[in-house]
Amino acid sequence: MIHFDNSYARLPADFYTRTPPTPVSDARLLALNAPLAARLGLDTDWLSSPDGLAMLAGNAMPAGAEPIAMAYAGHQFGGFVPQLGDGRAVLLGEVVAPDGLRFDIQLKGSGPTPFSRRGDGRAWLGPVLREYLVSEFMAAMGVPTTRSLAAVATGEVVQRETGLPGAVLTRVASSHIRVGTFEYFAVRGNIEALRALADHVIARHYPHANGPLSLLDGVIARQAETIAAWMALGFIHGVMNTDNMAVSGETIDYGPCAFMDAYHPDAVFSSIDQMGRYRWSEQPQIAVWNLAQLATCLIPLMGEREAAIEAATRSVHAFPALYQAAWLRRFGEKLGIDAHPEDRQLIERLLTLMAQQGADFTRVFAGLSDGSARTEFADPAGFDAWTRDWQAREPDSEMMAHANPRRIPRNHRIEQAIAAGVSGDLAPFGQLLDAVTHPREDRGEWRDLALGPLPDEIVRRTFCGT
Ligand code: AMP
Ligand code: MG
Repeated sequence: MIHFDNSYARLPADFYTRTPPTPVSDARLLALNAPLAARLGLDTDWLSSPDGLAMLAGNAMPAGAEPIAMAYAGHQFGGFVPQLGDGRAVLLGEVVAPDGLRFDIQLKGSGPTPFSRRGDGRAWLGPVLREYLVSEFMAAMGVPTTRSLAAVATGEVVQRETGLPGAVLTRVASSHIRVGTFEYFAVRGNIEALRALADHVIARHYPHANGPLSLLDGVIARQAETIAAWMALGFIHGVMNTDNMAVSGETIDYGPCAFMDAYHPDAVFSSIDQMGRYRWSEQPQIAVWNLAQLATCLIPLMGEREAAIEAATRSVHAFPALYQAAWLRRFGEKLGIDAHPEDRQLIERLLTLMAQQGADFTRVFAGLSDGSARTEFADPAGFDAWTRDWQAREPDSEMMAHANPRRIPRNHRIEQAIAAGVSGDLAPFGQLLDAVTHPREDRGEWRDLALGPLPDEIVRRTFCGT
């Protein structure tokens, strides 16, 4: 059994279309996230029962589900698209967890909706497994993120460059409201809808906010934390369009995302990001750009226009300082120090050495406490000098063990897990999932998963896979 309470479906009709998922021929449960189900107060026995599987596949809706495709707009690579919306996803409804927090239960890859444009509304197994692995790793590291409750094979072929096995991901989010959701109503001049949306978001995510300006401040503060957390893991989102930025502050829409192996600030993997707009080092600036779009949407709700523009601008301009503070705290933790502004130089010196020598981002930080970081530098002289200055700060190894994952879902391991999954073997996926959801533990069987790619395993491009 599952008990839904659907607050978004109670919003005005132009917020969504009522669109049920499209049934699939041969649903098979590939993965079910028992710890997440428990956190949500959902019954895993029911979820893996025929009725539960029917819901997770989109074949039959339990009582209380109100499937909707949400409307949103968005700036994609800087260009505005007034209508995007859930083209391959359907929100089944919301559940209230035992602790009182509310979560969306959404199917991704569940068939066409009125927002599908030319797309088929489907997903193939690759992006489903990728999102499952990466989102659950992020959650394990404490990064605000959507979660993955289940992956289901559809038994159908999804046509991309070739025919590929279809799959549906069940995504859990504190909501799926995006910057682009605000843009959808702002571009239509629908002030009433904007106000209803802002009120909904305040009640749901920012209960202490006392109006649109303090809502904006709240989103800005959370995004500053989230982006700093990405940076500290070497994570590159890949498609930071405004429709892929959640106002809750959660990381959302894992498409052509990637973690760096060798450190370089300009790292970019997405095949569609040819200009490097969304490269690692640019993510904080892009966040500011996206938040400025949100600010623009909220200005009509803020009273007298000149004063509203001034106040909203001030809020957006607060992002860099909030982000810098979060960055300093996060990278300080990676070095085991309670970092002060004068420590910035110590952190940047290490990053510069890493960039010069293409040192592995994850292995350097994970190897600082036991000395193995040194082996990541072909020419360790600079690193040795840096180490002496760092040691003088008396690093706390427990802090470092918490901040620095031993393992990340490396691109080549994800690709290997997907390739095996496509040929029917989910064991590599299961092992990688286990390893990256216990990122601070060491187990002998996981040793290889901590290694960087061999030259012929390096993944240089990642794809949206839509
Ligand atoms: P993205 O930036 O990849 O999250 O997606 C941008 C837009 O494209 C969203 O409106 C999606 O719903 C839509 N989209 C992506 N893939 C598909 C698909 N296979 N079928 C229909 N719509 C899609
Ligand atoms: Mg998206």
